[in-house]
Amino acid sequence: MKQTIELKNVSVHYYGNTAIENISLNVEEGNIIGVVGPNGAGKSTLMKAVLGLVKYRGSVSVFGQKVDHIRKNIAYVPQRTSIDWDFPVLVKDVVLMGRYVHVPWYRNVSRKDRERAEEALEEVGMEEYKNRQIGELSGGQQQRVFIARALAQDTDLFFLDEPFVGIDVNSEEIIVNLLKQLRSKGKTIFVIHHDLSKVETYFDQILILNKQLIASGGVKEVFTPANLKQAYGGNAAVLADDSEMVVVGP
Ligand code: ADP
Repeated sequence: MKQTIELKNVSVHYYGNTAIENISLNVEEGNIIGVVGPNGAGKSTLMKAVLGLVKYRGSVSVFGQKVDHIRKNIAYVPQRTSIDWDFPVLVKDVVLMGRYVHVPWYRNVSRKDRERAEEALEEVGMEEYKNRQIGELSGGQQQRVFIARALAQDTDLFFLDEPFVGIDVNSEEIIVNLLKQLRSKGKTIFVIHHDLSKVETYFDQILILNKQLIASGGVKEVFTPANLKQAYGGNAAVLADDSEMVVVGP
């Protein structure tokens, strides 16, 4: 199995405050990996460090290379709340943005690029909305359009930051099924996620984070009351039956 990302002693500090500390991990291709941990645990920061969007100490490699050389091979879907939905742009143009990484500066997008973008819109069931403004769509539809943009990028590695927050059940199901299809094609998908009740059905592996990496590996081995308690502290209420866990509070 090929390694997708490898982190060695990665730390990020914002104005002297530690967001993540000494994270080392190796992830193999062909998995859906959930990144879980309480609010402020550094989940988004970890993703941004891998993408080279924040300054970090330590080393990060993606497919054995520095991220600067390979950024176009990572599709990133940021948190919905970080996107300006009033920005006047059509659905089809949002998806076409996924193709720009493959278009050299000296030429325009080609018919092939447009076709790929349309295909991606079909994959998320949003083709009939292609001429709508992105701001007119529901939360779930907007998220599906951003997933289509990521699909149109034709990459092997996907990073999704809280993709299921504020979306309808139907959109969630469409997205989860798509992620499973991508995995069956050998793609690797990292998903920041806070709903612990879905962890066992959605993910193959998880990273449990609270500034430091508390545990990582297969869901069965790692998604344990002891690890969750270490990450969530007093907020993790572990029910008597080991298989069910709930998190109380934020
Ligand atoms: P999570 O995604 O797990 O909620 P984040 O990575 O967003 O956590 O944040 C980790 C910590 O870093 C938090 O304490 C947060 O307030 C802080 N932080 C995140 N982004 C910034 C930033 N741009 N500037 C300063 N502090 C930040």
